[in-house]
Amino acid sequence: MKKKQKTIALIAHDNKKHDIVAWALNNKEILTQYKLCGTGTTSRLISEATGLEVKGYLSGPLGGDLQIGAKAAEGGIDKIIFFWDPLSSQPHDPDVKALLRIAVVYDIPIATNRATANLIIKE
Ligand code: PGA
Repeated sequence: MKKKQKTIALIAHDNKKHDIVAWALNNKEILTQYKLCGTGTTSRLISEATGLEVKGYLSGPLGGDLQIGAKAAEGGIDKIIFFWDPLSSQPHDPDVKALLRIAVVYDIPIATNRATANLIIKE
């Protein structure tokens, strides 16, 4: 029986967008095995750089993290790559916390740096 295609959500704060795009390019081959989604700007940048289809939610500061959190709570997201910026404060910090919290509540693998992203994408 064919295995159900898993969904990965991709999110990066502004100072980390370059990193997530570079990571996606490095992992393009393996990413083709997944359904991809992400916050507005991140999904657009990854799609433009890789040519992969990435379903875009709202931009993070406008509610995109919350949309992805809601999807995750409903069982629609299998893994999350979330390159948050540890050196700048974010206007939507409560939403960022909500998404991190939901990932823990539902035991969803969530990678917040490149090293962990490399690990979880392969499982
Ligand atoms: P963005 O949102 O991809 O729309 O920039 C990311 C975020 O800031 O959470």
